[in-house]
Formats: sequence, structure tokens, C-alpha cells
Amino acid sequence: MEPLELAVASSELRDRLQALDVRSCLGCGACASGCPIPGTPGMEGFDPRVAVRLIAMGREAEVAASAFPWVCTSCGRCSHVCPMGIDLTAVFSLLRGLVPRSKVPGTLEKGVSSVLETGNTLAIPLEDFLDTLSDIGGELAEEECPGFYVPVDQPGADLLVFLNSKEVFGDFDDLKWWWRIFYNAREHWTVPSRNWEAEDWGLFTGNPDVSLVLARRKLDLMRSLGAARLLIPDCGGGSYGCRMGLKTCALEDPSHQVDSQYFYDYLLGLIDSGRIRLDPTRNAGRTFVWHDACKHGRELERHFGKGYYDEPRAILAHCVGAQNVVAMTPDRANNYCCGAGGGNWPMPFEKESAAHGRFKVAQLEACRADVVVVGCANCRDQLQKRLPRFFPGRCNYEVKYLWQLVAETMIATPWTPAEVEAATERSRLQHQHFEAELDGGF
Ligand code: SF4
Ligand code: SF4
Ligand code: SF4
Repeated sequence: MEPLELAVASSELRDRLQALDVRSCLGCGACASGCPIPGTPGMEGFDPRVAVRLIAMGREAEVAASAFPWVCTSCGRCSHVCPMGIDLTAVFSLLRGLVPRSKVPGTLEKGVSSVLETGNTLAIPLEDFLDTLSDIGGELAEEECPGFYVPVDQPGADLLVFLNSKEVFGDFDDLKWWWRIFYNAREHWTVPSRNWEAEDWGLFTGNPDVSLVLARRKLDLMRSLGAARLLIPDCGGGSYGCRMGLKTCALEDPSHQVDSQYFYDYLLGLIDSGRIRLDPTRNAGRTFVWHDACKHGRELERHFGKGYYDEPRAILAHCVGAQNVVAMTPDRANNYCCGAGGGNWPMPFEKESAAHGRFKVAQLEACRADVVVVGCANCRDQLQKRLPRFFPGRCNYEVKYLWQLVAETMIATPWTPAEVEAATERSRLQHQHFEAELDGGF
């Protein structure tokens, strides 16, 4: 393998890797035992132990030049078991950051440029964004939520919500699950008109400076809109990058602390407080299993001292009844990644990503659940779209988002005529405002 010209001087690279204490590696191989990469076609000879040993010997350019840092899904199974506490996920992410930007695989770097320039990964213009919210919101209002509209830039909202650009771009129906919940909970929420991206591709490209820019934007929006709480995005990488970025901002300046709420806590709060009511009999006769997303569980636990394992299970039990929930083995902090982490959904390493998912396929076959419930868009797409193509006949399950299941199980509480009238007036004023701003173009 040819050494790659790295983006920073090698002495600086070594300093940064040294700070991660790579040389304390014992060579025990526990990380390699837990990692799904060994056995992946095309990755022969590479595993986290080999990679760390090469880095410790000063041969980091060889690892950076390989596909290894990209095929690694940042799932954190290796770091979880390392007896020396080496943050291997951070080490491999650092290697990604040292690859010249022109060599970043697939569309990741383009997405980073787009989000920095336009405020969202897919460079969706403001006018199209507002059109989509208006059209899809209007559909929902007609279908089942009279009076519904998407509040944009509403000052003083209780909840500031960010959106995943792939849903705004084309997965329109996926937008409606959360919207239905906000409607029935009578939430005072809003989305920003600019910088609304929930995803964080800075994380995927090994560029923490980008994650920090995205977190600062969220902070600025919280302040300028006077929102009470920020809803941490549901996307695995987006939520993790957001938490890390907000933490850095608060460390830089304690006045940068903002109130935020993890979406599992939010959903559980709505259910426990009775703001939404569920009818679990709708899900009778089927079995459900929860897939622990690495970025909501193991990786969060390692960096923030708490992984979200119990809350999603409690929500699931509320939705379907505890007797209809089965378990995957292993799960919680030992769970296997679906194979799409670290940006592997949009990256060109499809076969490797699917091979990584072979453990997940085997887990799902063994537990025989009818429905896999997930909390991350990349997990959903991987389980629903990619793995069935690579493992035909073996993926006999349906996939649902947790918030989709909540929305489908929720007992509708339509607004009163007075509530509909008030919302219709607010929507009209909002439309008028943006029409003037866009000079009649909306
Ligand atoms: S983060 Fe996951 S995929 Fe990457 S080296 Fe560690 S165990 Fe393997
Ligand atoms: S688990 Fe930790 S100590 Fe053991 S080989 Fe891997 S990095 Fe080294
Ligand atoms: S795609 Fe899902 S399972 Fe895989 S690393 Fe991301 S959050 Fe974890």
C-alpha cells in the first residue's frame, strides 16, 4: 500500500495521535475480536489491532491510505472492550480527517461544502424548502390533522426542531411521523428557515471543525428565536455530532449552554404525562425488537456517561405491550452495528457495509421478530433497503422508526374549530411573511 500524502505535517499528526495514547496498546486483540471488519471481503489483513499497531509504529500513512478508516463504521465496539481505554473510534476518525479532502470517498465532502455554504447537506434552496413544508404539511392537514402547518422561525417556541435533508429532499412521508406527534401533543414547536440540517457530515469526514460550526449555528438559532429547548436530532450521527459540538461550545464558554432534550426523553415524557395517548392493541399479534443504535447507546455512554437503552425499550413497550417485545443477542452496549454507521450509507463501500451487516442479519434471524424498531435514519435505510438486497430471503422483517410506531399507535385528538381557526391564521401570516421575503416567489 502506498503511503498517502497527509493533510498535516506528520509530526503534528503524531502529536495528535499520541494524545489518544495509541502507544499504550497491549496488542491483546480484544478490539479485533469485537469488530465486524475482519472477514469483510477486500479488508483482508486489516483489523483495529493491526491498525493501532501500525499507527503506534509511525506507519499511520499506510492505514490512512487504505479503505479501513472509511469502512470502519465508528460503531465503537472496539473502544468498548479495550482494556487500556483507547478511544479507537476517535483514532480512526482522526485518520479520516488527515486524508486530503479531494480523496474523501463518495459525496461526503460535497455534502460538507453544501452544508457550510447553504445550511443543508443537499443544498436545498429556501424557496424549495418552504414549498415542501407547505405542501407536505398541507397533505397532513387534509389527511388527518386539520389546521396543521409547519411553524417556521416562530419566536419563543418551546421546542426547536431540525430536519434531515434526505427527508426534505424526497422521503416526504417520513417527515409526517414527528409532525403528527407534535400536532396531537399540541406542541409549541418551530423549525428554522435556515441552517435547519439535522445531519452532521463533519463527523463522517473526520472534521470536528465542521461539527463545531453546525453546533454553533444551532446555538445561534436557539438565541435568535428565543426557543426554550433544542430537540436533539434523531439521526444517529447527527445527534452524536450535535451533542459533541454543543459540549465543546459550553466548554469554550459556559454561557453557551443551551437546554436540549434527547428525543427518547421527549417521547417518553409525552407518553408518561398523558399529552399523547396510545392504543397498543393496534399492534397485537406481531413481535417487535429494538435495535440499539451505536450512536445513541454505546458511543453516547462512553462520551457522556449515559447511553439510551432503557428509554426506547420503555416507549416500545408502551406502543406494543411488553409481552410482544423480543430481544436480540447481544444487545445494549454489546449490540452490533447495522453496517451503515460512520457515513457508510452514502459512501461507495456498499459491499463492505453489507458484509459488516452480516452480524445484524444473523441476530435478526435468530430473534425472529416481525418488526425491527430503530432510532436512526441510516440504520433504517440499511436494514430496510441494503441488507435485503445482499441477503435475499433472510431479511423477513419490517422496519419502523420508533416515532413512526408512536405516531401509528397514537389515539388522534383533532384540534377544536377554534384551534384550527387560530392555526390557519398563523399559517396565513407566515406565508405572507415569506412571500414578501422571497419577493412573491413562494
Ligand atoms: S469502530 Fe467498529 S467498525 Fe470501527 S474498528 Fe471499531 S469495532 Fe471495527
Ligand atoms: S483492545 Fe486496546 S490494548 Fe488490546 S489490541 Fe486493541 S487497542 Fe490494543
Ligand atoms: S448506522 Fe446505526 S447502528 Fe450503525 S453506527 Fe450509526 S447509529 Fe450505529
